[in-house]
Amino acid sequence: MFDLTGQVALVTGSSRGIGLAAATALGRQGATVVLNGRDGQALQQTAAALCEQGIKARALPFDIADIPQATAAVDQLLADVGKIDIFYSNAGIQHREPLLSVALADFERVLFANLTSQWALGRHIAGHMVKQNYGRIVFTGSVTAFLGRPGITAYTAAKSALHGLVRQWSAELAESGITINAIAPGYIKTELTRKLWDDAEFTSWLYDRVPQKRWGEPEDIASALVFLAAKESGFVTGQVLTVDGGMTACM
Ligand code: NDP
Repeated sequence: MFDLTGQVALVTGSSRGIGLAAATALGRQGATVVLNGRDGQALQQTAAALCEQGIKARALPFDIADIPQATAAVDQLLADVGKIDIFYSNAGIQHREPLLSVALADFERVLFANLTSQWALGRHIAGHMVKQNYGRIVFTGSVTAFLGRPGITAYTAAKSALHGLVRQWSAELAESGITINAIAPGYIKTELTRKLWDDAEFTSWLYDRVPQKRWGEPEDIASALVFLAAKESGFVTGQVLTVDGGMTACM
């Protein structure tokens, strides 16, 4: 099961963290993986490192928040390889600042990168998938959409909207051979959360809420992604798969 040989997978935000673990896992299942981030040189090195592990990988640098640049890069990829079977829309940014001081520009920047640009690129790729009558689209949501945490209004609003988006798109594209789902990670050890790793007060807060009493690892998300990306999960669509060590189940 879950053999992805011959498939092409584009993973945004895959120079490190969850995206890199996801791309590695898809590559190990046989997919050709296309890595994305903003630093082209770093991406080339990461793609080369994956190739050394026997994974078919290539780099496609673009900024997800620059929609013309992103869609042009995807068009070039399609011209080169002919198709995208799996799209993991994973890149995301955060800005932490209390509600009463955060600037409108920062609110809009985070909302644009985490929602509007993902809608635009996802729609662009969905148009191609409709023509091939097959596709797997997965967005990265977040447990913050269920929690309410201070200082990240725009981030939480965008992630909540992505959870709604997958339900909407799954209905609209139901007969196109495409499934659309989201993964809502709990607290995962990546650069995004680095400042919290050694924060004893935060760790105590977290372990009080996570029954497994541990941080998630990027590979925990990658396994869920492989399932949603596989042909075998074709009846699973419009879902938000929460991967959080039981955190939100036990709130
Ligand atoms: P990291 O900060 O470790 O990685 C983010 C990745 O996104 C990097 O590869 C980065 O590369 C890329 N990226 C950032 N901005 C852009 C952009 N504008 N255009 C293209 N690429 C971009 O984060 P995580 O791996 O932790 O996060 C991945 C996703 O998971 C995000 O959507 C995040 O919100 C979500 N998430 C994470 C959780 C966690 O606990 N870690 C919990 C819930 C959700 P570069 O900087 O080189 O562009």
